This record gives sequence, structure tokens and C-alpha cells, in this order.
Amino acid sequence: MRERFYRFMAGRYGTDQLNRFLSIAAMAAVVLNLFLRSPLLWIVSVALLIAVYFRTFSRNLQRRRAENEKYLGTKKRVTDWFGTLRDRWKMRKDYVFFRCPSCHAMLRVPRGKGRLRVTCRKCGAAFERRS
Ligand SMILES: [Zn+2]
Repeated sequence: MRERFYRFMAGRYGTDQLNRFLSIAAMAAVVLNLFLRSPLLWIVSVALLIAVYFRTFSRNLQRRRAENEKYLGTKKRVTDWFGTLRDRWKMRKDYVFFRCPSCHAMLRVPRGKGRLRVTCRKCGAAFERRS
């Protein structure tokens, strides 16, 4: 039985981080739907499960890897964004955060120092800013 399964899975993609995420999303949708009882959410959870099985048994390894890479890139951007937000929250008493008016880079100055002349580290634009 075990050997038959291995033979069946030979050349197939298997699982990855994207599949793990889709499985958790499907489970969350199922649990949420115990309370909401929405036909749309039911369709979503079934579609997610179908996607997980399709990707697991897929023989198009290149395509599945590309999807996973894309997912990992997006996940990193999201976690980085939340990380930055958390850092800013921790430093909120000591610094004022704002965007550079010319290149939109995130900048910070010490809080409570009055009017400051700020030079953007990224683009070199200079401007005044209340802290
Ligand atoms: Zn700038």
C-alpha cells in the first residue's frame, strides 16, 4: 500500500508552503462556516481544497514552484510591512515618522526637537519638518 502510494506520487509535486497556507485557509473557512453557514464560503473552502489537491498531484513541477516562489515573495512583503509597523509602534514615543515629500521613503526624526531641517538619506532632498 505504502509502495503504491510512493509510485503514485513519483514525478508529482507534493506539498509546499503555499499548499500549507491554502490548507489552513480552507480549514479556517470550514470552521468559520460552521457559524456563518454561507453557501459562498462553502464554495470557497471546497475550491481551496481542490487547489491543494490539484497542486499536490500536479506533474507541472516548474509551474508549481513558480507559484510557491510568488507566494513566498508576497508573504515576505506582508511580514516585512507588519515588522516595520511594529518597529514604528515601539519607537513612537521617541521618534516622529513621515514620508519624504520627493521620493516617499520612510524617514524618522527625534520627537519634540522643534523645527528640524531634514535631509532624506535616500534621495538627498532637504526640507523642514516639525518634530
Ligand atoms: Zn527622499
